[in-house]
Amino acid sequence: MTLKAPHAGTLEVICGPMFSGKSEELIRRLRRAKIARQSVAVFKHAFDVERSDSEEVVSHSGIRIDAYAIHNPQEVAQYAREHDICVIGIDEVQFFPQEIIATICALVDSGRRVIVGGLDLDFRGVPFGPMPTLLAIADKITKLRAICTECGQDAHFSQRLVNGHPARFDDPIVMVGAQEAYQARCRGCFSIDRTPNW
Ligand SMILES: [Zn+2]
Repeated sequence: MTLKAPHAGTLEVICGPMFSGKSEELIRRLRRAKIARQSVAVFKHAFDVERSDSEEVVSHSGIRIDAYAIHNPQEVAQYAREHDICVIGIDEVQFFPQEIIATICALVDSGRRVIVGGLDLDFRGVPFGPMPTLLAIADKITKLRAICTECGQDAHFSQRLVNGHPARFDDPIVMVGAQEAYQARCRGCFSIDRTPNW
């Protein structure tokens, strides 16, 4: 009787606020796998790009790795099957729809190692897209911290600034003509006009 699958897959989630080094950590793990000659592929959301294309994941410090920009979560599974990929990286996974969860689970169940990086909270301090579920089903979680730009403590919020002032909870995601910026902030320095409806 087999008690354990010989090549069980795993899900690793790297989360944290902006400027916490998530992409850098994702790239580091993928590079190690590449050096060990494991088949590796990296994906990110294509957004406005009209067709899937080969691009890069670039960390804030400038470290980069080739990545495929995709629109549909199913493209990840299809590519992994067709190219016999055993280690899959997904950057900014919070931008994908909930269907990415089923895709990731199927990849892990097929014995693959899946490493995803993403923001756990949006600018309002609300859990971001598929992240809560991914964190719950993960085998391994790395919650990174940035440094608060106001006080220097550990930061786990991403402060959105519109024209230099803290964004409001109900501000639209895209504000035409506004100057936008983001900062890492600690809980004490994070500023929003109301709390989420938990
Ligand atoms: Zn602070």
